[in-house]
Amino acid sequence: MKDILYIVVPCYNEEEVLPETSKRLKEKVESLVSQGKVSEKSRILFVNDGSKDRTWELISSLHQADPIFFGVDLTRNRGHQNALLAGLMTAKDRCDMAISMDADLQDDVDAVDRMVEEYYAGCDIVYGVRSSRKKDTFFKRFTAEGFYRVMNLMGAETVFNHADYRLMSKRALEGLAEFKEVNLFLRGMVPMVGYRTGTVEYERGERFAGESKYPLKKMLAFAMEGITSLSTKPLKMITGLGFFIFLVSIAMLIYSVIRWAMGETIIGWASVICSVWAIGGLILLSLGIIGEYIGKIYLETKARPRFLIREVLDDEK
Ligand code: UDP
Ligand code: MG
Repeated sequence: MKDILYIVVPCYNEEEVLPETSKRLKEKVESLVSQGKVSEKSRILFVNDGSKDRTWELISSLHQADPIFFGVDLTRNRGHQNALLAGLMTAKDRCDMAISMDADLQDDVDAVDRMVEEYYAGCDIVYGVRSSRKKDTFFKRFTAEGFYRVMNLMGAETVFNHADYRLMSKRALEGLAEFKEVNLFLRGMVPMVGYRTGTVEYERGERFAGESKYPLKKMLAFAMEGITSLSTKPLKMITGLGFFIFLVSIAMLIYSVIRWAMGETIIGWASVICSVWAIGGLILLSLGIIGEYIGKIYLETKARPRFLIREVLDDEK
């Protein structure tokens, strides 16, 4: 008896890509089943993240036509990370391994075979890593790679060039379920789960159809989310900065006293103005960063549900 594979796909307004995505994923799962690599109970699970278009209708009709497709309908749009978690948590109790991927076929479907091989070789988590970003626009590549660098600099450790295309075993998913945080940043949380991990390289393609649901604004918000929910390094940096400024101010003090002793007290309106602005700016920046964390604490104490499921389409009726 082979292990059960679930492919989890979050979908937000993806009616343009779903027909093709579902066809390709079905082919992939069926070929794995016929090669005897995964159980015939393997499924493809689409999570509808409160789409405004016909995405859920499409998922329902896919499920009706072929029970290989399952669906989860969230009560509203909760964002990619929450939708993905909803899918993984639904899959957790039914599968032995789950692979998460985007709906737009940017993640090379053929990497699934190698992920499954790594799983059987004993890995509990297999990261899909992009070998190149040739097909991304220069802007997307620049911002995305900058994203990983800044993240690591800020103490939010992530796997370089790994997005949310990965395989997790059942027990790794159970580990992930123990993380109760509301501010979700899955690609930073998964490495904390531990177990033996592997990586599989793949070439990232272009979005098959439709537009990116991650414009720059969302990407910046996502980076901020990642940094503040994974590390407290920015707070430590403020402390370091404060200490540095303190040293500078002592030097300034000594300098001023010497100038005063030399009888040249009235100097530099410019330097006064500059330091007022610089210190003011730094104080505001530091307050802002502290505020970010306080906001996080506020949200965590509320412990709001990370997603709510309206309906699940599966064969356990
Ligand atoms: N997505 C989602 N909820 C959202 C935004 C995006 O479930 O609020 C899904 C989307 O349907 C896709 C995946 O997240 O399957 C990645 O989005 P996209 O391809 O637009 O991001 P990009 O590849 O441009 O970073
Ligand atoms: Mg995409």
